Amino acid sequence: MIIALLSPLLFSKVYLDNAATTFCDEQVLWIMNQIYRRKLGNPHSGHDKGREALLEITKAAEILKACVKGRHIIWTSGATEANNIAILCAADEGKTITCVTEHESVLAPVRYLRNTVFIEVDGRGQIDMATLRQYINKGARLVSVMLVNNETGVMQPIAKIGALCRRHDVLLHVDAASSFGKIDIDMEKLGIDMLTISGHKIYGPQGIGALILSQTGFDALVNPIMFGGLFHDRIRPGTLPTVLCAGLGKAAELACQRMDHNFKVARTQKAKFWTAFKERFPKAVETGNSDWPYILNVCVPKEGKVNLPLVLAKEFVFSAGSACSTGKPSHVLTAMGVDLKNNHVFRFSFGH
Ligand code: PMP
Repeated sequence: MIIALLSPLLFSKVYLDNAATTFCDEQVLWIMNQIYRRKLGNPHSGHDKGREALLEITKAAEILKACVKGRHIIWTSGATEANNIAILCAADEGKTITCVTEHESVLAPVRYLRNTVFIEVDGRGQIDMATLRQYINKGARLVSVMLVNNETGVMQPIAKIGALCRRHDVLLHVDAASSFGKIDIDMEKLGIDMLTISGHKIYGPQGIGALILSQTGFDALVNPIMFGGLFHDRIRPGTLPTVLCAGLGKAAELACQRMDHNFKVARTQKAKFWTAFKERFPKAVETGNSDWPYILNVCVPKEGKVNLPLVLAKEFVFSAGSACSTGKPSHVLTAMGVDLKNNHVFRFSFGH
């Protein structure tokens, strides 16, 4: 009993699973608390209390749009829903192209469509640009490629893909759940039509995300997949959660303001951790991208009888891959040719 009570103090672990979720920032909590206390109305109501709520949502939407130079916002419950809306609402008979290492919330809706292509990656996790180019040249409706992979930190050449898509009038959707607020994203410059973000990856609340759109992206959403009243944007019905929208707005504001500082903090943490880890496990190899400071994906050869995941779990909170595919062998690492049978795989992800 005493040990159980004392254990959080005696064995406090270091949280290195910030790619799965981050904890709400104090300033975000404060804003959300203030809005709750003001007892705002339904943002879709025409009276004062409704209009006050709508104003909070509009302020938050302006912050998100300004962060990435977007034109429209569709509020969602998170990145999963934003990815589904982008793909299913924009798809038509034209080809939908994606990459095998995308998040399951992109792969699954693409699998649901008919005319699709899944492009392979090389051993470093980079999309096969030659094949992508061939398909885009032949004409397509939509390309969906993420900016930074949530398991490995591998970055895809979005600027090149965006230029290619623009030249051929193909829509570009980018899942930026792991990169929004961490690096500068200019939708106009990069040629991105639809950008997925999620609140709980940037010290905002869980249960809120957004699809940020260019004008072309917004006009391309021709197949609504949800029906009901209270449309804010003609695509996603239902009462908007004022407090969560405002929380995401504040989290985005903080992330974008402190981007460079946070990046340096994460880089220092990752470098220190990696040095110490290598000292302890000299055979460890980084699988992902050493330039992306927020994620360290490592393989350690399985040797002897030591249960390494269990040993590390006594000190750290981490994961083996995406929290959304827990228990399954990673499709990302499999696509990169990683020997999952003979290696332990760990994803440590850093924050500020
Ligand atoms: N895309 C990526 C790249 C992610 O990392 C995640 C979360 N693991 C998601 C989508 C899903 O995000 P959410 O939890 O907001 O639905």
